[in-house]
Amino acid sequence: MAQDQNLKDQIKKLVELQVIDEEIFRFKRQLREKPADLEVLKAGFEAGKSNLLSLEEKLKGILVKQKELELDLKVKEEGISKADGTLTLLKTNKEYQARLLEIENLKADKSIVEEKILLGFDEVEAAKKAVDAEKSVVAQKEKEFAIEKKKVDDELAIIADQVKVKESQRSRLTPEVRPDCLSRYERILHNKEGLAIVKVADHTCGGCFMHLTAQVLNELKKYNQIITCDMCARILYLADDL
Ligand SMILES: [Zn+2]
Repeated sequence: MAQDQNLKDQIKKLVELQVIDEEIFRFKRQLREKPADLEVLKAGFEAGKSNLLSLEEKLKGILVKQKELELDLKVKEEGISKADGTLTLLKTNKEYQARLLEIENLKADKSIVEEKILLGFDEVEAAKKAVDAEKSVVAQKEKEFAIEKKKVDDELAIIADQVKVKESQRSRLTPEVRPDCLSRYERILHNKEGLAIVKVADHTCGGCFMHLTAQVLNELKKYNQIITCDMCARILYLADDL
């Protein structure tokens, strides 16, 4: 029964190894997934920043338009005062009346520009308010992101340490496992996302919960060879035997 005891011992070692490997897989999954959660927060913060930028551009555009209107107003005021200045130089009443009409038209144009400038003030105010509001939203998001990042970075550092601890436990155990058993176990471990050897409970595979035949259960008790589940290909073991 030397062979029997040998394989049973090997299975026992693999079960011990599985406990460690399950944790290593879990920790490594966390190392992959936690930064992804952070990316979502970062995307929100970046979207706020780009929104702020477009609001600032909009404000800039309004201010430029406002500046142009002010220049236009100045030109119109100069035109009016120039026309006013020439009134006394005119010789005929007809010329005088024509110039007066011209001045009236210039004044009408000027008041249209003035009205636009007044409306522009409201636009500038509204745009400034929107910029300020978005600035405080972005600042808040940035703060939240920084806090969360620090938290995640700390957690990742702890998890990375835990992986190291588990890996060193693993490397102490693996020399006790026969190379053929180990390589078979490891192949399944990587194909089956960290679960290679599973307990049989109630005639059922602990990996995929398929019902196992009486023949498979008999084979398991013999310990002549490693028995795997037909459905999920994981190594099976009987907990009561170990
Ligand atoms: Zn299975």
